[in-house]
Amino acid sequence: MTEIGTDIERAAALLSRGELVAIPTETVYGLAANALSSEAVLKVYTAKGRPAFNPLIVHVASAAEFSRYAEEVPELVMQLASRFSPGPLTFVLRKKAIIPDETTGGGNSVALRVPAHPIALELLQRLEFPLAAPSANPSGFISPVTAVHVQAQLAGKIPYVLDGGPCSVGIESTVIAVENDIVTVLRLGGIKVSDLQAVAPVVKFASAQSVNPASPGQLRSHYAPRTRLVLGNLNDLLQEHRAKRVAVLALGDFPPHENIVANAILSPTRNLDEAARNLFAALHRLDAAGADLILAEPMPEEGFGPAINDRLERAAA
Ligand code: AMP
Ligand code: MG
Repeated sequence: MTEIGTDIERAAALLSRGELVAIPTETVYGLAANALSSEAVLKVYTAKGRPAFNPLIVHVASAAEFSRYAEEVPELVMQLASRFSPGPLTFVLRKKAIIPDETTGGGNSVALRVPAHPIALELLQRLEFPLAAPSANPSGFISPVTAVHVQAQLAGKIPYVLDGGPCSVGIESTVIAVENDIVTVLRLGGIKVSDLQAVAPVVKFASAQSVNPASPGQLRSHYAPRTRLVLGNLNDLLQEHRAKRVAVLALGDFPPHENIVANAILSPTRNLDEAARNLFAALHRLDAAGADLILAEPMPEEGFGPAINDRLERAAA
């Protein structure tokens, strides 16, 4: 039985016993476990069906804790953290031995983040250990942005979902590595590259490969609905698939067609922050609409556009 509730005390007790609890964060719901316990962390991989090489993000209550878990915390990391933590920015640093290999997918680096959700922070402050928490969905599928999404996808596999309402950012954190004053973006997400550029002198991008040693979890197929998703120009796609029952995912308005059985407009005013917030809920809803295909259009390449497109491309792969 998987229960949904708002009892932080109960969540803390379960986590302290080495159990899994789904927790709210501002990005997406996380499937949390004691990051210092190999045994607890292995349960996360089992519940998600996550490949063992895909490392977990370790959540802490404040950036002051980074040095407990990372060998070296560069000055630039603390500068970025003073600006963006708590928030959707994850730092990949060389790990200390206290972090078990299971948490980092066998690698010698650890990903650290301070979530900006009051319930997640209160929970972390009560606990004597940090929380390893990947998105609370089966590996490869659509990320959850409400407690009900978690329950629908992980029912029976975890005892408790801590409900903190819908996620305010709606896409995962931006993951960066910092070396010699150079920031390398390993995954696009909730902090825009332009915001990083305002603080860091040099911002680079990791090469896009299906298995990238610097970011082992960036698989080509991810965030995927069960219904096949096709990404492209909506007018062309609607023409091409006019004989099928389709669900449409659009940024703003789009032309009506008889064969559209469901649709989601991510932002009527074409605001990309709002689009990011609505993305995964829209995918969950369209996936449940019984369509033959989901047709989605790419977002403009500004603000959260690239981060949303990254997810749509993987959802289509
Ligand atoms: P998720 O928690 O499911 O959103 O995935 C977290 C992602 O963060 C992983 O798939 C990796 O791409 C990245 N990540 C986590 N830990 C590390 C690490 N130690 N080194 C590099 N990338 C990491
Ligand atoms: Mg995920």
